[in-house]
Order: sequence, then structure tokens, then C-alpha cells
Amino acid sequence: MANLSDLPIRDDLKGRTPYGAPQLNVPVALNVNENTHRIPEEVAVDIIGRLAAAVLDINRYPDREFLSLRRALADYLGAQLQPENIWAANGSNEVLQHIFQAFGGPGRSSLGFGPTYSMYGLIAQGTGTSYVDAPRLDRYELTPEHVSAEILKHKPNIVMLCSPNNPTGTPLSLSCIEAAYEAVTQTTGGIVVVDEAYAEFGGNTEVSAISILEGRERLLISRTMSKAFAFAGARVGYLAADPAVVDALRLVRLPYHLSAFTQAAAEAALDHSQTMLATVDDIRFQRDRIAVELKELGLDPYRSDSNFVLFGGLDNPAEIFDALLAKGVLIRNVGIPGTLRVSAGTEAETSAFLDALRQVLKK
Ligand SMILES: *Cc1c(COP(=O)(O)O)cnc(C)c1O
Repeated sequence: MANLSDLPIRDDLKGRTPYGAPQLNVPVALNVNENTHRIPEEVAVDIIGRLAAAVLDINRYPDREFLSLRRALADYLGAQLQPENIWAANGSNEVLQHIFQAFGGPGRSSLGFGPTYSMYGLIAQGTGTSYVDAPRLDRYELTPEHVSAEILKHKPNIVMLCSPNNPTGTPLSLSCIEAAYEAVTQTTGGIVVVDEAYAEFGGNTEVSAISILEGRERLLISRTMSKAFAFAGARVGYLAADPAVVDALRLVRLPYHLSAFTQAAAEAALDHSQTMLATVDDIRFQRDRIAVELKELGLDPYRSDSNFVLFGGLDNPAEIFDALLAKGVLIRNVGIPGTLRVSAGTEAETSAFLDALRQVLKK
């Protein structure tokens, strides 16, 4: 058997490590921000029916343009979006890869505000796009002035804005997005991508960038069914943008990239969007409860508009992580000194985490 280093892989991939959140079989898994509630039975039954219908035609390639899924996604997003405004792929990670393939590449650059979603740098790497990890301000916040200054300084072709930000949970104001768009327009004429993977968990104070899409043909808004929609295993991510952007992404996708099963399952789930999102209020409640109870423990939770909480105030996060794991509770060490990140689960899972943490901290 050969080693990776024995193979003639691309020079720029040598020594890199793949995305690798641990997948462990534990009673309480709160490490990758899934919706930990199962999907409602009535929706499951509908999905099975659609899959059964799809299998009868499985000898044929699926609709390459997945038009009926795009229509369902446009209806779900509202804001008078049309199917022409929508793109989708196997998870929003693939959507992001399409974006980098079409708008990045050798000789082009991208920029994100770290700490942020680790896949931005990895997808940049995989597509030969350079990546600048620009800093955040105090408590991982961003301001329009700061966003603008970093873009004017580095002149990226692609700006990645994670709203709210993973792994910190930090909400992003529309004025920051507007400032980014202005700055990119003034410099490279590149694109601004707003990754709204957790948009459905936001409070009322922040609204989606979809509300400022009109008239901004280089603004791309990425969404996913993996989080609030409780559909991570189905792998469905999507994008809202100007129809010309969709034309660009079509140049790089593989033919028939969304299987007939994926399309059928996603359409069924979207037909039940209210039911599918019924757990979001409770998850938000558990998130806020985590923040309150962590503060009572003398820890330092960061502001979060998502379904997870990053918290600081730990002398030895790796030790706490291991001690929690020994109690069957898996959370995430994202490598930010003094912190850990936990997803808000069901009430029972959240209680299990908080109880385990209380015991671990007492020692
Ligand atoms: C989870 C997550 C995604 C979603 O990934 P999928 O490929 O859609 O499952 C995208 N962006 C961020 C910031 C995430 O945390």
C-alpha cells in the first residue's frame, strides 16, 4: 500500500488535511450543528411515496435542470424569486464549490473573515484559488468600515460572508453586506457570497440578504436544507442570485448532478416546509438557554443567531472536550483558544450537555 506522499498529487495539495469533524457513535451528538430532531412522520411517509414513484423511472437520467425543485425553492424563499434565480447542489458545500470553479481559479483570490467556516479555505484550495483569512473585531464582530477596509486592502475576486458566522454564531448586518458589495465593485468587480446556512435560526433583528438582492447581480446567497430543515443526510444546498449567475454555475456542474431521489425527496420536504421547520422555535429556545446557563457557570458564551453557541472562559478546552465525550456528549473543539462550540439539541440532549458540563467543571 502506498502513502499519500508517494502519489503524484498536485503540489498545492501536499501536506493538506481534509475536512474532518469526528463522526462518533455517542448518545448525545451536538458537534456538527445538525437539527437533532427527527423529521415528522407525515413528511417521512410523503418522501417515501415520492421516492417510490421516482424509482420507476430510475433507468432514465433525472431532470438536469431540476426545474420543479428550483420552483419549490423559489416559492419557499419568497421575495418574488423565480426558478431562474435558483441553483442547487448536493449540499451547499457543492454550491460553494461551483461558485469557486466559476468565479475563482488560478490567478484569482478569495477572502473570508476568520474564524469562519473551514470549507471556504478548503474549497479555495481545491479550485486553485488563493484565500485570505481577514481578521474579525472584538468578540468576532464585523462593521461595515472594517469589512470595506479589508476588501479594499486585499482586492479579492470572491468575498465570503457567513451570516450568521460559523463557528462563532455572530450575526451579520445587512450594512456589512452592502459595504462588501460596494468595496468589491470598486476594486475587482468580483462577487460577494453570503452563506446563510443558519438563516432560519435568526432572531427578528436581522433579515436575509435576499431582501437586498434586487439590483445586485454579483450578490450570491447560499442556503442549505441541512440545518433548520433537518435534512442533512439528503444533501441539498441551494443558492439565490441573478439568473446570469446561474448560467455561470451551469458551466461547471457535472451533468445530472442532482439525483432523481434527491430531487424527489427535497420537493416532498419543501411541500411540508412549515412542518419541517416546526422545531426551529424550540431549538432557538435551547440555544438561548445554553447561553444563560453557561453564564451562570461563569463561562463566556458569544452572541449567536444560529443553532449553536461558542463559549469561552475555559482554561483547557481539550480536557473538557474529552471529559464530556467520556460522558457520552460530543461537542466541538474548533481550535479557537479557550473555547468550545456546542449545537442546541432537543431539550433532553441540551440538558444532558449542561448536566455533564456542570459535573466536569466541578472536578
Ligand atoms: C453546515 C454549513 C453549511 C452546509 O453544508 P451542506 O453542504 O449544505 O450540508 C454551509 N455553510 C456553513 C457555514 C455551515 O455551517
